[in-house]
Amino acid sequence: MRISLKWKFSAFIAALLLFVVIMMSFAVLKGISQYQREQTESAMAKQSEAASARIQQEYVTGARLDAVTFMKLQGRKLAVELGASSGGNRVLLYDGAGETVGDSLPMADAPDVGEALAYAIQNKIAYIVKGDIIDYLAPIAGPEGQLGVFHLQASLAAQHVFYRNVQRMFIAAGVGVLAVSLLFGFVYMNRQAKDIRRLNEAAERIRNGFYDRTPKLARRDELGDLSDGIAAMSEAIQTNIRSQKQFFNNISHELKTPLTSIRAYADLLDMYKDDPELLEEAREAIAQESGRLFELVENALRLSSLERYEFEQRPEKVELKELLEELCMRLKGKADRYGIAINKHLHSAEVWADKESLTHIFMNVLDNAIKYNVQGGSVTLTLKAGDSGLAETEVRDTGIGIPEELRARIFEPFYTANRDRARQSGGSGLGLALVKQLTEKQNGHIQVDSAEGKGTRFVIAFELYDRRKHLQV
Ligand code: ADP
Repeated sequence: MRISLKWKFSAFIAALLLFVVIMMSFAVLKGISQYQREQTESAMAKQSEAASARIQQEYVTGARLDAVTFMKLQGRKLAVELGASSGGNRVLLYDGAGETVGDSLPMADAPDVGEALAYAIQNKIAYIVKGDIIDYLAPIAGPEGQLGVFHLQASLAAQHVFYRNVQRMFIAAGVGVLAVSLLFGFVYMNRQAKDIRRLNEAAERIRNGFYDRTPKLARRDELGDLSDGIAAMSEAIQTNIRSQKQFFNNISHELKTPLTSIRAYADLLDMYKDDPELLEEAREAIAQESGRLFELVENALRLSSLERYEFEQRPEKVELKELLEELCMRLKGKADRYGIAINKHLHSAEVWADKESLTHIFMNVLDNAIKYNVQGGSVTLTLKAGDSGLAETEVRDTGIGIPEELRARIFEPFYTANRDRARQSGGSGLGLALVKQLTEKQNGHIQVDSAEGKGTRFVIAFELYDRRKHLQV
């Protein structure tokens, strides 16, 4: 059975408070009853001592009689006198044999105190409480031993009324606490439950694909944190979906452009089969466009798999100097074509990284340095092993530069700062996005600074190989 949190919580609070009230009332009532008993006992003892003293005084000052005769003769008078002085309580007197010798209320029924009387005759104090009445029996001391028994009958009604009043007060307090705590617990938890329901609804909306309407709870506690968390999660999912959509749109667009161009040449060739000039132009264009397509598809696949899966990285010890030398050789043809000189200042530096990723990273950055350069410009490549345990590679070009406001965006997929130039050179804007991802996957970092019209400088740093840290496998 599903029981709402608000019921559980209010029942718990009510039970807790009720328990406190019950424990408290037990303690207080027990204290009261003990106090009352002590008070009664001490008052009774005082009265019986006074009575005993009064009787003894009468016994020693009067004619010399034996105890039994004295009690028989004086009992009646003394009982009435003691009864009058004890504020209207009934006083009875017995002789040593347990015979009633005096009663301040002789017309009333004789109280039945058999057992207590037997006790008192043996010089002990005994009392019986029956309802609101206490029968207190104490021995009367005489000069030669016990004279008889003093019996005081008093009412405890006032004490009992006080006790019952306190008891009633506690019951009322218990009921009040129960009602109020249930009510407050319910009202309080109802508010909490409402917020929890709102969070639940938010989760439901996310499940149904509505990410933009996640309300935030204005509270500064765990529920507030949870609500912030849900809102942040919703936003992250939405951004992710948007960027996936955008990635998809961009890639469709980028795929269409070279394909349209290839198809146009195919159509033209179909019409002018024997035009050697057209044939040559088409061959060149098709080669260029298909190369671009190939690169685009490869980069896009790589990028999306990098984002989605923990791409398989096989780190090894790589001599970065050798790798960069080789890349320069591979790019020499292109650099020559663009009329660009490549200067190298390479020191030996071993890094621990995935070789294929390194190739891809530096190939892209060097290729850009040539592509976005100017006729007669240069690319300067520097490699040094720094003291900080990093191998720093600097790729500096004398090209067109990147406007400052666009610099932060060049690492986004499909972003091209200069669309015409990028298209002309076959760029699709995926290169640097991939470079950044690959660099970070190898625990490296990449920085860019640039002066528009003067050139750009990329610095890429990787951890140097450390024999103790990177075990060759
Ligand atoms: P692309 O395939 O367009 O070259 P990249 O992701 O490699 O894509 O680069 C993104 C954009 O950054 C480029 O379109 C270009 O505008 C700018 N860029 C990259 N490298 C350089 C550079 N060395 N000099 C000037 N601009 C550059």
